[in-house]
Amino acid sequence: MKKTILITGGAGFIGSHVVRLFVNKYPSYTIVNGDALTYAGNLENLNDVQNKPNYVFEKIDITDENSVYAAFEKYQFDGVIHLAAESHVDRSILDPLAFIRTNVLGTAVLLNAARKYWKDDMEGKRFYHVSTDEVYGSLGEEGFFTEETAYDPRSPYSASKASSDHFVRAYHHTYHLPVVLSNCSNNYGSHHFPEKLIPLAIHNIRNNKPIPVYGTGENVRDWLFVDDHARAIDTIFHNGVTGETYNIGGFNEWKNIDLIRLLCKIMDSKLGREPGTSAQLITFVKDRAGHDQRYAIDATKLNKELGWAPSLQFEEGLEKTVEWYLANQDWLDHVTSGAYKKYYEEQYQQR
Ligand code: NAD
Repeated sequence: MKKTILITGGAGFIGSHVVRLFVNKYPSYTIVNGDALTYAGNLENLNDVQNKPNYVFEKIDITDENSVYAAFEKYQFDGVIHLAAESHVDRSILDPLAFIRTNVLGTAVLLNAARKYWKDDMEGKRFYHVSTDEVYGSLGEEGFFTEETAYDPRSPYSASKASSDHFVRAYHHTYHLPVVLSNCSNNYGSHHFPEKLIPLAIHNIRNNKPIPVYGTGENVRDWLFVDDHARAIDTIFHNGVTGETYNIGGFNEWKNIDLIRLLCKIMDSKLGREPGTSAQLITFVKDRAGHDQRYAIDATKLNKELGWAPSLQFEEGLEKTVEWYLANQDWLDHVTSGAYKKYYEEQYQQR
């Protein structure tokens, strides 16, 4: 079946994996990657699909009504998969308003455009909003986030994502916009911008630089391989029930410090270093303000109702990820030149 789908944020980490999956799996779809190419957006992430006949890139800033409406007019989208966002918690602490603009206002602009262009015929249309488990707040040692867990966002990033989730549901209830949502745990894998824990650690180990670990490294995160997230998005986009929310997670909890130790072990072996060499680079730094203690997702609904399950064990996924970064040092060198250096110094130098 022919469809034209707008994937926002397709030049980013997760978006590029979703674009790749859809372009390759659905040759009869036209996939429009709408991205503003901020510091986190990089078209090099999509070198392997850029010449495919069913792939188009459009530079779109989702906060700019004119560019969003022009794209809806031009392509008459059947579906939107919305990933564009400011995504880094530390940056949201430095500049919360940028997160409100992109994540809240940008989502509302897209919702308004879908409402306007679909209002006379919602048949076969779908607005899929991609969100995070961070909207649920922080857990103690026990328990999991389910789809019924009350929202309790605690960083400017998670507050902006929570707000955008509420707007998406409000447009469903108020205007009957055919929406579906998912909230996913932490992703890892190739093409991940090295401000986030895993690629930052790989980059620093490779360059013999300290690996900054917040606080005592006891914070727990649930990690999912990015291709498994992309597969879940494909499943939910096609088979999810309109108006529903699905949690996505890896059933894979790790304390930050244990994860970093495992990563050091893999890096020692891949770089031919003596066991224990990379772990000497671990450096505890002042904790992130308001750092949530533990996130853990219960993805039972997605598994039982739509048959999705993670495909990879964490150790295997981490090894694949390390191999990708070591084989793609040019990519890492490009994204860590220029503005990245300034950000990194501001973030870690005085800690
Ligand atoms: P990312 O920061 O790697 O990519 C974001 C993309 O959005 C970039 O390509 C950027 O250029 C684009 N963008 C930013 N502002 C824009 C604007 N105003 N208009 C158009 N494009 C804009 O983010 P990511 O980690 O790939 O996350 C993608 C989505 O998934 C986000 O909505 C995020 O909240 C969600 N999410 C991420 C994770 C994770 O672990 N990374 C987990 C769960 C959910």
